This record gives sequence, structure tokens and C-alpha cells, in this order.
Amino acid sequence: MANLSLKGIQKIYPNGFQAVKDFNLEIEDQEFIIFVGPSGCGKSTTLRMIAGLEDISGGTLEIDGKVMNDVEPKDRDIAMVFQNYALYPHMTVYDNMAFGLKLRKVPKDEIDKKVKEAAKILDLEKLLDRKPKALSGGQRQRVAMGRAIVRNPKVFLMDEPLSNLDAKLRVQMRIEIAKLHNNLKATMIYVTHDQTEAMTLGTRIVVMKDGVVQQVDSPQKLYNEPDNLFVAGFIGSPHMNFVDAVVEVKGEDVVLKVADYRFPLPAKKAKALIDGGYDGKTVVMGVRPEDLSDAQVMVETNKDSTVKAEINVYELLGAEVFLYFTLEGASMTARVDPRTTAKTGDVIDFAIDMEKVHVFDKETELTIT
Ligand code: ATP
Repeated sequence: MANLSLKGIQKIYPNGFQAVKDFNLEIEDQEFIIFVGPSGCGKSTTLRMIAGLEDISGGTLEIDGKVMNDVEPKDRDIAMVFQNYALYPHMTVYDNMAFGLKLRKVPKDEIDKKVKEAAKILDLEKLLDRKPKALSGGQRQRVAMGRAIVRNPKVFLMDEPLSNLDAKLRVQMRIEIAKLHNNLKATMIYVTHDQTEAMTLGTRIVVMKDGVVQQVDSPQKLYNEPDNLFVAGFIGSPHMNFVDAVVEVKGEDVVLKVADYRFPLPAKKAKALIDGGYDGKTVVMGVRPEDLSDAQVMVETNKDSTVKAEINVYELLGAEVFLYFTLEGASMTARVDPRTTAKTGDVIDFAIDMEKVHVFDKETELTIT
């Protein structure tokens, strides 16, 4: 299949707007790469440059060692699946899937074989004679996938392919895409807004902001070891809680002071703050919702790192409960065991798992520890 290499890729639109800045990424054969980031951060632009649908303003794009910058889209051996499916309404499912191959003058019996194979993989065999308007959203999306599969491309590009589907279908199709990736052993690049899609499908995730890559890592590494405040806040739902804290160093001990609370840091984290010269400085403390628990329910509570607060909102989501409260003006979310007896209006102790706390430089927003 295919390796891709993006070196110093840039996009400046004709109006002078720079949508992508110095994008560098080496993609291995069979990887499933996810692009995530807020709206307008340059995900689609990057994907479209790889597809050849947008000119590359600077840098080099290689596929299997060959420079592709000026190669026509049809000659890049790439298939793209869009969010709106882009099916031909007057053609049957069969003809929609066969169309690209017909244009390429592939022999009829070969087209037939490929379409039927793809239909089998995608469970579309009984629908080959239907027109798109007689299909459900999920079935249409499968036809769009089928059209990409029959071409047997080196690389699949997908731009939010599931965003028009309802929640249940999205989950089904997400699993289908994961299977497809396993079966086809293709290199895939996938743009999404959806956290779960990103975390479950990606072998690596590229987090972008304002045209700049923030971090490229496995889902687990991004979640546990974000490089900066932006990535920490973007990956994870509900998002990480942030509150300003003042660093106080006494010998080898470090506490983070938030209002009258003094949270002691474990030795390794303490060392990073001492070495960085943060004594007396304000930093940002980051706590994932699951690292904040209802101290009454928690088996081993660290009494030194609890916060007393009134619950503003209680939300039961079946397997978990979210409790919302404020700490020094910052809104906080705790993801707690559903066996909690806490209710809206109760004042309870929340325990912070200080082993899991993240600390960020307030100015550079980079992770300290
Ligand atoms: P979304 O998640 O909303 O699809 P995205 O991350 O995919 O966003 P892009 O579509 O890549 O973002 O757009 C990146 C930036 O480039 C945006 O600020 C957008 O307004 C701008 N942009 C896109 N196309 C053009 C164009 N043809 N001319 C000028 N600016 C453009």
C-alpha cells in the first residue's frame, strides 16, 4: 500500500489567508491517521491538498517516495469519501460504484467483479439495483465507501464521512470503518469533529489549531500526556478542568495553592516545578473529570487534596454521574461512580488524584508535568 510524507506543507489561499502552516508528518503504510481540531483549523484543507483538490503553496508531498505536488488528482491513486456522499441520484447503487472504473475504461467483467466484491464487504448486495433516494443515510454512506473501495486505492481520505448520520448509525458505521481498515489494510486519513471516532479509530491523531499541528500521537498518549494546554482541553469529553494555582516550594516539597487549598504534588511532578524555577509563580492546574471523585465514595481518599464545594448540577448518564461545581471561579466537572448519593445543592468533598494532575505554564501554555 502506501507511505505518505508531508514536509513543510503550507496553504495560502488566493486571498492571502494562510490556512496551513509548516505541516510535517510521516505516515506509515496501513496507518489510520485522524485529523482533529476546532472548525477552521485547516483539517479539510490539508486533506484536500493530499487529494490534489487544492494546490500546495509550499513544502513537499510524497507518496511512496514520489513527489506528488503537481500530480493530477486522478493519478495519485487516492480515493476520497466526503461527508455529503456525492452519489449520482439518477444512477443505481451498482452504477454509482462502477462509474469511476468505467471512466477509466476498465473491462466490463473486471468492473462487475470489483463492484460485487465491494458490495459483499459492505453488505450492499441486495441493494445494487436501487437508486440513492431509496436508501437510508447509512446505506448511502456505504455506497460512497464502495465507490472508493472498487478503485483499490493506495490511500483512503475521508472528510467527516459520518457527520450526516444519526447517533446510532454513526456508532455502527464507525465499527464498519474500523473493520474495513483491518480488512483492506489500507492507509487511511480521516477528518472528524467526533472525539469518540478520533480516539477509537486512530492509530495516531493529529491535533491542529489555527493551521498549526499541536501534537501527533497515539490516542492514549494524547489523552495522558498532552504537550500543551490546548491539546489537554481539546482531547477528552467532558474536557479537562483547569484552575489557576500558585506554586509554593519548601525544600523538596511542592504544593499548588488554589484559594485556601494547598494541594501537595507527588515527588516527580514536584521536581519538574522546582527544576523549572516555578516557585511563587502562577501555573494552570489541569484535572481530568475522572480524577476528581466524591471523597465519601472513594476507597482511598487523599485527605490532603480535597475540595469542599456545592454541587450545581447533577447528571446521571447511566454508567456514570457528572457533578458540576465551581472552584475559585473555574467551572469543574467530576465524573463519579453512579453509586454516589450526592445531589444538586449538596456540599461535598471532592478528592483530587494528585498523581494524575497536569501542570501547565500559564504564559507559554506548554506542559510542565
Ligand atoms: P471544519 O471543521 O469547519 O470543516 P477545517 O479545519 O476543515 O474546518 P478548513 O476547511 O481547512 O478548516 O479551512 C481552514 C481555513 O481556511 C478556514 O479559516 C477557512 O475559512 C479558510 N478557507 C477555506 N477555504 C478557503 C478559500 N477558498 N479561500 C480562503 N480561505 C479559505
